[in-house]
Amino acid sequence: MNLHELTAHELLDLIKAKKTSSQDVYAAVKKQIQAKEPQVHAYVRVNENAPMSSPPKADFPIPIAIKDNMCIKGQETTCASAILKGFKPPYDATVVKKIKQSGGMILGNANMDEFAFGSSTENSHFGVTRNPWNLACVPGGSSGGSAAAVAAHEAIWALGSDTGGSIRQPAAFCGVVGLKPTYGRVSRYGLIAFASSLDQIGPITKDVHDAALLLKMIAGYDPMDSTSVDVPVPDYTRSLVNNVKNLKIGIPKEYFIEGIDPQVKQSLEKAIDVFKQCGAQFQQISLPHTEYAIATYYITATAEASSNLARYDGVRFGLREIPGQTRKSPLIDMFEETRDKGFGAEAKRRIMLGTYSLSAGYYDDYYLRGLKVRTLIKEDFDNAFHQCDAILTPTAPTTAFKIGEKVSNPLDMYLSDIFTISVNLAGLPAMSLPCGFSREGLPIGLQIITKPFAEEMLFRVAYTYEQNTDWHQRKAPIQ
Ligand code: GLN
Repeated sequence: MNLHELTAHELLDLIKAKKTSSQDVYAAVKKQIQAKEPQVHAYVRVNENAPMSSPPKADFPIPIAIKDNMCIKGQETTCASAILKGFKPPYDATVVKKIKQSGGMILGNANMDEFAFGSSTENSHFGVTRNPWNLACVPGGSSGGSAAAVAAHEAIWALGSDTGGSIRQPAAFCGVVGLKPTYGRVSRYGLIAFASSLDQIGPITKDVHDAALLLKMIAGYDPMDSTSVDVPVPDYTRSLVNNVKNLKIGIPKEYFIEGIDPQVKQSLEKAIDVFKQCGAQFQQISLPHTEYAIATYYITATAEASSNLARYDGVRFGLREIPGQTRKSPLIDMFEETRDKGFGAEAKRRIMLGTYSLSAGYYDDYYLRGLKVRTLIKEDFDNAFHQCDAILTPTAPTTAFKIGEKVSNPLDMYLSDIFTISVNLAGLPAMSLPCGFSREGLPIGLQIITKPFAEEMLFRVAYTYEQNTDWHQRKAPIQ
């Protein structure tokens, strides 16, 4: 039995039955990391000092990968940026605290696009992660390390963060399950901020059951995050039922755009058939402001990012660079030199875009207008949910692209977020799960979207699909 290839719920059953132990599971995953990491590079750093087993009564004695933007006390956390090199957080993010309390063993910091800016993990200061299904392809991003680690069985499950699709799109590209919870469902305390009104932490797992377990572990109100919402956390495993009879599922007519890969479209159509056979009813819905989603997202997200990244000045965190010669004043010189050396090209691009749309004279035309359109996008979903219980879309318009294919064309990269970003603008929960493979053998993802705090519906729909298909059982050739 290859322990590292099992799901968390399978391992928990075995541990409970004393057929294996947390030490054995940890050792198996560590061995896999040693064997596959040179090819995949899912981790920025592997944790060499983690406890190698869990306390005997632990609820979730399962090894986990944590995206490099969640603070782990005393352990270098860098957001895959040079500017945070050497930064050791003095506290644990709330999600990390919860994982430690439930006996999780933290395997290491998973690779990501610098500050979560990107859709391919190519913007990491520490080098690209490779897709376990085809090493010439990107794993998606920005949580590419987390998704690749799970797909390559270098972690049993992982945490990612999603500001505009960064959990769902890499999950789709790597053939695993990725869940972006409702804004406010999971505490963001200790998540290094990208765009605070959009960011949400969520699970990346091998199947839907594991996503339910991991979400239950990390969800809930936190006084340390004023945007977390005080609503009870249900036992999501109760929603793992194989039944969508008479549920109404909406298909947005605006999402079947030009540029969508015909193989992705075909897989979605087949998924619709599976749901129909299970008794679901389909109807076309309209999300009329979809065409403004990319512009709205990239104005809102970069504005918030430019403000959040102002704190990296060489004084308080990580890197400090002092030029050899004084240019303006010692202090200004240090700010400039640190930010110039510390940030990569995409981070600089976002800081400039965001600063521009927030500056006097442009604020009304860009940022403020963006906020207004954001409300319209949210209202589109409110209206749609009067007609249906869940919305079905592809997660991404294409399968994983080749490493290097889109780096020189940021706009093309931004367009690949078309199906995921509206969900963040509207604060909704959504899940990506495997729904097929291209002729080239690359995974295709299906996205399910529901109302705020209706994660239970999400699990029900996703679980039913999973029970009636076997895509989630395929294993990446990296094995
Ligand atoms: N690809 C999107 C971006 O680059 C989303 C990133 C994310 O969700 N962190 O902004």
